[in-house]
Amino acid sequence: GRAPVTVIGLGLMGQALAGAFLREGHPTTVWNRTAAKAEHLVARGATFTDSVGDAVAASPLVVVCVSDYDAVHELLDPLGEVLDGRVVVNLTSGTSRVARETAEWAAKRGADYLDGAILAVPQAIGTADAIILYSGPRSAFDLHEPALRSLAAGTTYLGEDHGLSSLYDVAVLSLMWNILNGFLQAAALLGAAGVDAATFAPMAKTGIGIVADWVAAYAQQIDDGTYAALDSTIDTHVAAMEHLVHESEALGVNAELPRFIKALTDRAVAGGHGGSGYAAMIEQFRTPSEVR
Ligand code: NDP
Repeated sequence: GRAPVTVIGLGLMGQALAGAFLREGHPTTVWNRTAAKAEHLVARGATFTDSVGDAVAASPLVVVCVSDYDAVHELLDPLGEVLDGRVVVNLTSGTSRVARETAEWAAKRGADYLDGAILAVPQAIGTADAIILYSGPRSAFDLHEPALRSLAAGTTYLGEDHGLSSLYDVAVLSLMWNILNGFLQAAALLGAAGVDAATFAPMAKTGIGIVADWVAAYAQQIDDGTYAALDSTIDTHVAAMEHLVHESEALGVNAELPRFIKALTDRAVAGGHGGSGYAAMIEQFRTPSEVR
C-alpha cells in the first residue's frame, strides 16, 4: 500500500494537500487548530487526531502548511521526542534565512527537515500544473519523493541548502510581478487611448512569449559575463524607453515605472554598456545602489 502521511494545517492549501494524498490512496492523518476544517477530509477517509503530537506520531512523513513560521514553531516547539526520526516537510511560505534556522531547530530534535515552497494555487494541487520546490537533505527527499509526487507533477528538488526553496519562491514571484506590472502598465497606456484590455490581451500574450524565448540565450550571457548584442543594443532600447516615458506623460498615466526602467538603463549606458545586449542590465540588479 501507499505510505502513511500526516498533514498539519488545513487552511485552503493544507486541505488541498491532504485531499491530494487521499486521492492517491495514502493513509492520511490530519490536524488543524480549527477542527471543523477536517470534516470533509475525514468523510473521505482521513484520520483526525486531537493533538498535534498524535498527528506527528502517526506517520514517518509530516507535511506542515500553516500561515507562517511563527505558527509552525507554536505548534511543533512544545512537542518532545515524537519528532525524532521523522521527516518534516514544511510547505509554509517564508524566507531562506528562517528556513535555515528551522532546519537547525529540527536537527536538534532529531528530525530530518525539508523546506518547501508551493508555486501553485490550492486548486492546482495534485495536478500537472502544480510545482512544489524542495530543499534540504537529498536522502530525505528521495525517501519520500513517491508520496510528495501525489501533490504536484512538478515535484522539484533544488539542493541541500534549506534556503533554496524559499529563495526560488520569491525569485519566481518577482518575475511574475514584473511581468504582470508590465502588462498592467501597457493596459493603462492603451486604455487611456480607448483600447480595451481584452483587445490588447492576445498581443500581450504574444509579447510575453517572445520574451520567454529570449531567456535561455540571455541566461548563457549572464553566466558567461559577455553581453554581445544578439538582437538590439541597449542604446536602441533607451531610445524606445524615452518614447514610452513621453507617451505615458502625454496620456496622463502613471509614468513611474517607465521612468524607473529608463533610469536603470541610462546607468548601464553610463557604465559603458550602450553597445551591449540587454542582458548587460544584470549588473544593475546585482548591486543594491539606488536610482537617483
Ligand atoms: P489559510 O489562511 O487558508 O490557512 C492558514 C492555516 O494556518 C490554517 O490551517 C490555520 O489554522 C493555520 N494557523 C495559522 N496560525 C496558526 C497558529 N498560531 N496555530 C495553529 N494553526 C495556525 O492559508 P493557506 O492555506 O492559503 O496558506 C498556508 C501557507 O501556504 C502559507 O504560508 C501560504 O503562503 C502558502 N501558500 C498558499 C498558497 C495559496 O494559494 N493559498 C499558494 C502558495 C503557498 P485555523 O484553520 O485554525 O485558522
